[in-house]
Amino acid sequence: MILSTIKIKNKFKNKVANGFPLLTKEMLVNQDQLKQEGDILVAVDERNQFIAKGFQGNQNKGIGWLLTWDSSEEVDQRLFSNRLRAALGRRKSWFTKTNTTAFRVFNGEGDGIGGLTIDYFDGHYLFTWYSEGIYLFRDEILAAFEELSSYKSIYEKKRFDTKGKYLADDDFVRGERPSFPLIIKENGVNFSIYLNDGAMVGVFLDQRDVRRAIRDRFADGKSVLNLFSYTGAFSVFASLGGAVKTTSVDLANRSVAKTIEQFSMNGIDYEAQDILVRDVFRYFDYAVKNNVKFDLVVMDPPSFARSKKHTFSAAKDYKNLMKQAIDVTEDKGMIVASTNAASFNMKKFQRFIDEAFKEKGIRYEILETYSLPEDFMISSSFPEGDYLKVVFVKKK
Ligand code: SAH
Repeated sequence: MILSTIKIKNKFKNKVANGFPLLTKEMLVNQDQLKQEGDILVAVDERNQFIAKGFQGNQNKGIGWLLTWDSSEEVDQRLFSNRLRAALGRRKSWFTKTNTTAFRVFNGEGDGIGGLTIDYFDGHYLFTWYSEGIYLFRDEILAAFEELSSYKSIYEKKRFDTKGKYLADDDFVRGERPSFPLIIKENGVNFSIYLNDGAMVGVFLDQRDVRRAIRDRFADGKSVLNLFSYTGAFSVFASLGGAVKTTSVDLANRSVAKTIEQFSMNGIDYEAQDILVRDVFRYFDYAVKNNVKFDLVVMDPPSFARSKKHTFSAAKDYKNLMKQAIDVTEDKGMIVASTNAASFNMKKFQRFIDEAFKEKGIRYEILETYSLPEDFMISSSFPEGDYLKVVFVKKK
């Protein structure tokens, strides 16, 4: 790997020195110092004093990540091994659980390597690479991992622009190919997981605590609407928590078979549930016209989505989405509003919710809020890494 020195502007010196791990263009005195993905970067201040070391890896949010603030530490397999060992050690208790067999083992910069996450699915591991730069360290990282941990299989996802070079294979890396689906458990509930079938594997692990809250405390006796439902995870938990009926709405055709599968895995009669392939915004029109309302509405839209008629951006459109959700929620009913948009924080999210209720002239009460669960480790120098925001709000 090539070593380049990058000079950090005085203005950003303290921030970087204090452990902020993300490198952005605006921090650099001279952008020509950046050469290529995977280069090892030595960050110095304007007086050429060492601050930190990292690597170049372009993502939307920045141009690379810092890995160490110790000038004697090299960016090599040993460093990766140390970060992985610490992360595995922090999750020791997770490996022994029997009613939850899937969790995040390594959470990017929160565990000391930006641009890499590793998830555990009952002995199988999924590595997700978020930049070409981090992918160039793949061999060292995998070698370090193999020394530290046994595994049944390793799969990977590349979440960066591969400029057509990425031939669609089934993402298998090593170990023994299992037959899919894997059946994992989350708080006693079964999930079918496909590590070999596109970007999404069947469940978003970061919503674990939200699903449990819905099942254990909020679903009993309720009619439930699950918008942007994907594989219907929230519907399954609501149903197991005693919901009288769930309605799942997702635009993607695949969502029907996937949702039927998740219900069936848990002994729920899917024919007693509604599973609709529909644009959520069209569904709102239908529900309002026919005065269809629900006791509990769960909505977890993507940060950005384009359908035939609509472009949805959470940062711009969440308030309006919330107003529409309010329309289809019974009086005294509840909305679980969720977003994974990294471009705004919890405070701003609650402002969208507040404005939506105010514009509707309806009072509300926030009952609970959630951010990332414990296994999605966050760096105290980078609280922005906690992208998940979920608010349980009751219509008064
Ligand atoms: N809430 C889900 C995850 C949602 S992923 C869970 O907990 O598992 C986002 C989903 O939104 C995708 O399945 C996508 O197909 C769906 N989607 C995107 N735009 C949509 C729209 N306009 N109407 C309905 N579904 C949409």
